[in-house]
Formats: sequence, structure tokens, C-alpha cells
Amino acid sequence: MIDVLIVGAGPTGTMLAAELRLHGVDVVVLEKRASATWRAGGLGLHVRSVELLDQRGLLGPFEAEATRFSVGGPFAGIALPWPDDLDTTHPYGLAIRQEKIERLLTEHALELGAEIRRGVEVTGLDQDDDGVTATLADGDTLRTRYLVGADGGRSAVRAAVDVGFHGEPSTADTYLADVELTEDPTEVVAELRKTHLRFGIAPLEGGVSRVILPAADVSDGPQPTFEEFLERLLAFAGTDFGAHSPRGVSRFGTGDQLADAYRVGRVFLAGDAAHVHPPTGGQGLNLGVQDAVNLGWKLAAAVDGWAPDGLLDSYEAERRPVAEAVVDSTRAMVALLREDPQTAALRAVLTEVGQLPGVSRHLTGRITATGVRYDLGSADDRVGRRMPDVGIGPDRLYAHLHRARGALLDRTGLAVGSWSDRVDRLPDGGGGPESLLLRPDGHVAWIGSDQSELDEHLGRWFGAP
Ligand SMILES: Cc1cc2nc3c(=O)[nH]c(=O)nc-3n(C[C@H](O)[C@H](O)[C@H](O)COP(=O)(O)OP(=O)(O)OC[C@H]3O[C@@H](n4cnc5c(N)ncnc54)[C@H](O)[C@@H]3O)c2cc1C
Repeated sequence: MIDVLIVGAGPTGTMLAAELRLHGVDVVVLEKRASATWRAGGLGLHVRSVELLDQRGLLGPFEAEATRFSVGGPFAGIALPWPDDLDTTHPYGLAIRQEKIERLLTEHALELGAEIRRGVEVTGLDQDDDGVTATLADGDTLRTRYLVGADGGRSAVRAAVDVGFHGEPSTADTYLADVELTEDPTEVVAELRKTHLRFGIAPLEGGVSRVILPAADVSDGPQPTFEEFLERLLAFAGTDFGAHSPRGVSRFGTGDQLADAYRVGRVFLAGDAAHVHPPTGGQGLNLGVQDAVNLGWKLAAAVDGWAPDGLLDSYEAERRPVAEAVVDSTRAMVALLREDPQTAALRAVLTEVGQLPGVSRHLTGRITATGVRYDLGSADDRVGRRMPDVGIGPDRLYAHLHRARGALLDRTGLAVGSWSDRVDRLPDGGGGPESLLLRPDGHVAWIGSDQSELDEHLGRWFGAP
């Protein structure tokens, strides 16, 4: 029997596979696409994802293939100043295409020993008290202790466990194509963007540009063909800019959906399988990777047999509200992109207000996920938030988090005692008057100086010693 079967080798599935392997869990990932190809999808990683890569020692390979950006404006394209007091040692995002992110995460998962089987589609599943049986398209079955649906917005896993997927319906489509252009689009784009904020052309790499094209109608049919895209582009812009050699063509709407539950027994949903929303603000992939980091150590604890009561359920309790907030942000952004005089006035007001440092910090915290705080039941506002990278002696904290173990940042002479197989004690003499207990996802679980209080929280998060 497999420990954990992951359906889908997108960013969420591959990150989760790696997180589980850090704990020695036996992981198999099934992916229906036979090979990885160009995807007209995500274009970047926000601050919290950059921090997570650093926490796992992965930042180097990503930085090598990405360019940094630290411009304001991910909020509905409104030019906000980048806050200079963002509490992070990585105050920037990484511009990197989704396919590269997937390749790097796949390599990481494989290096750690995950097994990824491509060209394998899951069509159904059944679960009982001991495990889950997944049925494959060729009729074969696989038995696993836990199964995670990281299989995207049209998740077969979500359907198989009969979890509802609700939200706002789409009111307008946007078409996009990653193509090569023979005409310089600069002037036409500048003219059209005066009245059509949802239209744009952005250079990607290797002579490929992303053309983003608003439509007035809504379709729930199959993804558009390149010919349909060209026809629409011509009708909208009066030219198709000589677009050719499409790498990817797709369409998304303004609608959103959130899974009613993230867990049904031994089956979990993560990434787009649990939440979809328009890509405005570029948060979907980031959200999925962060789901994976939240879920990985908890599932590993269950497999290892030390998960305390409620640990597995804390995944939904913590991550669903985060997705809800992202859905709300994207709704606000969709509204701010409406093309009428009232919305233009609203954008002008927000642009003005957004210059205030507190406002731009708050909105940037929302988009970059640095503002996320899990409700862990503490009155201390620092508990539940992610721990920024800090110096400990000559080192950085994140350098000690590569193995996804718990950590006691000990500034008051405390001990982890019999939890030392799950939690590292990191002596930090000069750090301050309180010690901090960090979970493997880098969130603060407790702050204090009392050993018996610490022991209570070690038990709460890391089980019986
Ligand atoms: C135009 C566009 C721009 C975007 N820009 C950004 C951005 O800048 N930043 C950002 O964070 N997000 C962005 N997103 C969103 C991002 O692409 C998604 O949120 C992300 O791909 C979700 O990752 P995932 O791994 O959860 O799901 P997916 O990437 O959808 O991966 C699911 C995988 O499961 C496989 N699969 C599906 N069903 C089965 C099955 N039954 N059996 C086996 N395998 C299966 C699929 O083939 C796929 O590989 C954008 C999206 C679009 C469309």
C-alpha cells in the first residue's frame, strides 16, 4: 500500500510530493499529461512563495531562471508603491513561467525520491476505514493510505468524493494566447488600453508574447482554438499583429469557486482542485504551493503515526479562509477593472489612497500572502503568522528549515526534550526576551519563556513525545 497518492503533477502536486518526501513518506504522483509542455498559465511567484523556496533551500535554482520584480501594481494593475517596510528579507517577486516552476519542483521532488508516473489518469476512487482505492483510466487500481487531489479546477477527485464547488458565475471571458508577433503592437495597445484595461500584450521570452484579450460573452465550451483567438483579436483590435506559432491558447472567466470541504476522510483537496478564481493578481499557483506546504507535514505526521488530534483537520481550518480571502480580493480586482466612468473614478481614488504606506503595505500583504495569519487561538498577533528570516548567530533561520522539521528558536534556555526527533532546538542568545516555536511550514505556533507552556504546545503540534 502506498502512503500518499497525489493526483496531478502541477505546482501543487509536485510541491506536496517533495514536502512529504522530506519526512520519508512513500509518495506516488499520477499525472495524466504524458509530458510537460508550455502552459499559458502562471507567470510569477510572490514574496511568501519566494520565502518558502528559501526555507527549503530551493531559491538558487529558481533565481537562476527568473527575474526579480519589486514593482507595485499587482492589485488590479493599480500603481501602488512597493512598501519599503515589508517584513521580509525577500522583498520581491520572481517572474518565472509556470512550466519552469513545474519543472524545478518536479526535479526537486524526484531528487528527494518521489515517484511520478506520467500518462496516468485517475477516473474514480473508493475509500474505507483503512485506505483509498484509486481507479485508473486503463481499469487498473492502486491502494493508498491517503489520497490528495491536486488535479486542478476540474478535479476528478473532488467529483469522486462529491464535494460541492461554489462561487460567483463568470460575467465576462478573457482570451489569451502565448504567440510570436510580426508587428510591433506598442501603439495599438497604448491606444486600446485607454478604454480597455483588460487588454494587454506582454513580452515573455524567446520572442514570445502573451496577448490578453477581453470578450463580452461567456462560454463554458472547450478551450478556444488559435483560429478562434485570431478572429476575436482581429475584430477587437483591427489587426492580429501577425500573430503566429502559438505556444498556448486559453480562456478564463471572472467567476470563482471554492470547495465546500478540503477533506473527506482520507481524501484531501489542494491547489486549484480546492479553489479557482481569475488570475488577476497572479495568486492561484502561489496559493496551491502554500496549501502543499501547510498539508505536507501534517499528512506526514499522520503516516508516521504521531499526528495529534485535529492536526489533519487544521489543514482546512487554516487554508480555506486564506483561499476565501484571495477569492474576495480577486472579486474586488474584477470590479476595479470594469470599463465605466464610475469605476475609473473609483480606481483614481484607490490609486490616491494606495500611495499611503499603510494601505500599500496592507494590499501588498494580501497579494503576496505575507499578511496571512492562521487563527491558532492566541491573543498574541504574532502567533499564526509566518516567521520572517532572521539572523541566528552567523546563520540565517531559513537555512535551518530545509528539512521541514519543527524548530524552537530558543532565546530563554528552554528544551525540546523528548520531541527532539521532530523538533530542532536552535539556540539564539541575542534574539530577544522570548522563545518561539515554529511549525515545519514556518508559521509561529507559540511565543513565551515558560517550559511547561512550551511542552503543552509541543504536544499540541507534534503529538505525544
Ligand atoms: C492565464 C493564467 C495566468 C495565471 N497567472 C498566474 C500567476 O501569475 N500567478 C499564480 O500564482 N497563478 C497564476 N495562474 C493560476 C495557476 O495557473 C493555477 O492556479 C495553477 O496552475 C494551479 O496549480 P495546481 O497544481 O493546483 O493545478 P494544475 O496546474 O491545474 O495542475 C493539475 C494537474 O493535474 C493533472 N490532472 C488533472 N486531472 C487528472 C486526473 N484525473 N488524473 C491525473 N492527473 C490529472 C493535470 O494534467 C495537471 O497537470 C494563472 C492562470 C492562468 C489561466
